[in-house]
Amino acid sequence: MAQMYFYYSAMNAGKSTTLLQSSFNYQERGMNPAIFTAAIDDRYGVGKVSSRIGLDADAHLFNTDMNLFEAIKTLHEKEKLHCVLIDECQFLTKEQVYQLTEVVDKLDIPALCYGLRTDFLGELFEGSKYLLSWADKLVELKTICHCGRKANMVIRTDEHGVAIADGDQVAIGGNELYVSVCRLHYKEALGK
Ligand SMILES: [Zn+2]
Repeated sequence: MAQMYFYYSAMNAGKSTTLLQSSFNYQERGMNPAIFTAAIDDRYGVGKVSSRIGLDADAHLFNTDMNLFEAIKTLHEKEKLHCVLIDECQFLTKEQVYQLTEVVDKLDIPALCYGLRTDFLGELFEGSKYLLSWADKLVELKTICHCGRKANMVIRTDEHGVAIADGDQVAIGGNELYVSVCRLHYKEALGK
């Protein structure tokens, strides 16, 4: 039986690197993985997953309107898929996470999802909420705070490095920076 995995972390824990390594492992064994990433994140150009250490691979793009079950079923009918890898899975809707459970349960294709657990306000993303609820396996990818503790929070800073305490959940490509910190330093940064 195929399973659904949620690999979650704060920023810069190597999620994309891990995804690309998994994809490579499938290809090395003559298998056919399909990679998806959010259309919202075009930092590296359309239809690519890139890691900070220089690896990249072509990817299908998803937006919030896409029926992932139908899209993956169509690809699978053209050429048998052995695995689906989803980057930036925090941006999935509830319906799309459900559609991925259908990919796993009805098409018997494993779904490996990589994304952030919480936003810069410490709130769950919609995709992450339902992946935490419905995935078969939860795997934390760890990164560390400047103090050496595990970083499980993300702060958004302005161009002067000052933590921002409100705003939209999604703001990619602006002057903001995201920094992973431990919970203690998250509270200090926000003056809590
Ligand atoms: Zn810290």
